[in-house]
Amino acid sequence: MKSESTNTNGVKIGLECHAQLITKSKLFCPCSTDYHNSEPNTHVCATCLGLPGALPVVNERAIRYGIKVALALNCEVQPQIIFYRKNYYYPDLPRGFQITQYDFPIALNGLVQIESASGGDGGRERGIRIRIRRVHMEEDPGRLVYKGTIDTAKYSLVDYNRSGIPLVEIVTEPDLRSPKEVRIFLGELRSILGYLSVFDGDLEGAMRVDANISVGGGERAEVKNISSYKDVERALSFEITRQKNLVRRGLKVTLETRHYDEVRGITLSMRTKEFEHDYRYFPEPDLVPIRISDMVSEIKGEIPELPDEKKRRFVSQYSIAREHANTLTYDINIADFYEEVASKMDAGLSAVWVADVLKGELNYRGISMREASKRVSADDFVAMLRYFKKGVITERGATEIIREMLDHGGKPDEIIKRKGLASIGSAEIEKAVLEVIKENENAVEDYRTGKKEALHFLVGQVMRKTRGRANPKDVSKWIEEKI
Ligand code: ZN
Ligand code: MN
Repeated sequence: MKSESTNTNGVKIGLECHAQLITKSKLFCPCSTDYHNSEPNTHVCATCLGLPGALPVVNERAIRYGIKVALALNCEVQPQIIFYRKNYYYPDLPRGFQITQYDFPIALNGLVQIESASGGDGGRERGIRIRIRRVHMEEDPGRLVYKGTIDTAKYSLVDYNRSGIPLVEIVTEPDLRSPKEVRIFLGELRSILGYLSVFDGDLEGAMRVDANISVGGGERAEVKNISSYKDVERALSFEITRQKNLVRRGLKVTLETRHYDEVRGITLSMRTKEFEHDYRYFPEPDLVPIRISDMVSEIKGEIPELPDEKKRRFVSQYSIAREHANTLTYDINIADFYEEVASKMDAGLSAVWVADVLKGELNYRGISMREASKRVSADDFVAMLRYFKKGVITERGATEIIREMLDHGGKPDEIIKRKGLASIGSAEIEKAVLEVIKENENAVEDYRTGKKEALHFLVGQVMRKTRGRANPKDVSKWIEEKI
């Protein structure tokens, strides 16, 4: 990522992040928001289909969630909010306008601190301040489904289940300097929203980002439709390279809206950039202004310890490495799981096994801690660690138990029996060592003549013979003794 084309010189990126709020019903109607596994167009009513005469009714909980987000992002919550109509025509928008906020959003002027990886990109300091311009509420449009890609599909299908899902839109100032910083920022944002219990980042399309990018003080292009969190870095790197190549050839970047094609990993010109006046914003006549100042102090009290604070507390309270604290606090479910384990077990050992081993196994399976906790409880994890500490199982046996619990469930003691994971006694180790020595004369000879690496090979052979149920350190001692 450190290539010429993606370095940070003159790159400015601002984001509009749309996050779905996990209320029970939609923003302006009683339809259920739990649509992710439903047939298309089954979570709809007159209001979210935009039928004539249907009136919106504001979901108070969604507004409260929006305020919660604004407070967690250190914003100034405004005394009152007003919904506006943003007029444009697109098939995913059945009314011909989106109900959003324009003047009088929920909040202004926030701040998020991010940590840049490896001591700063392009010489930037460790703690980077990303200013939040505004936070507002709006409804999600429906979802267009293409057969193939947007520019080759012969027709598009539309699903209105998503129409009217409450979104909180978080707009940053153009304070981000590289695709990598954007990824770190979005990670931080996702983490904070998860802590607030208003957002589930594991749901498909839960966070969608539009990015404004300019290079060297030139015009900006807006890239829309970066729907997967993983695509952000790729989409932005492509766009920066494209703009730099234009500049190099003496051409100008035009102010335009581009679409990110996730299949090909490129951005395509969609239309010239629309201006705000094109949308003919005006206050939504079917909704009254809402005073929110009275709600703020109560909601402030509901803000939990946030990731940054928790990270610092973990390092000092549990005396664990910063890297471990980072991994453990990113996802609130992992943080809670760790704390439960650490309350019954050595906190340092728990950190290693949760942050390195369990988290690694989750990543490998692409599942979240929330999902995993249906199969692995903190008590089971503690039981497994106790067996490991007592030497009943080896490190490999312990890892095996975690994998088994994640894949099939079960209790550690039962898995140890069923899979024969109990460590073996010294008599059995000795027997295996003697057999390996007999079977590997060359390696034994190598070791005797000073080739120390032959020992690793011999230990490996014994581990294989004992199916990982011996402690490699013990095996090594046994071999040295017997040769
Ligand atoms: Zn509805
Ligand atoms: Mn928006």
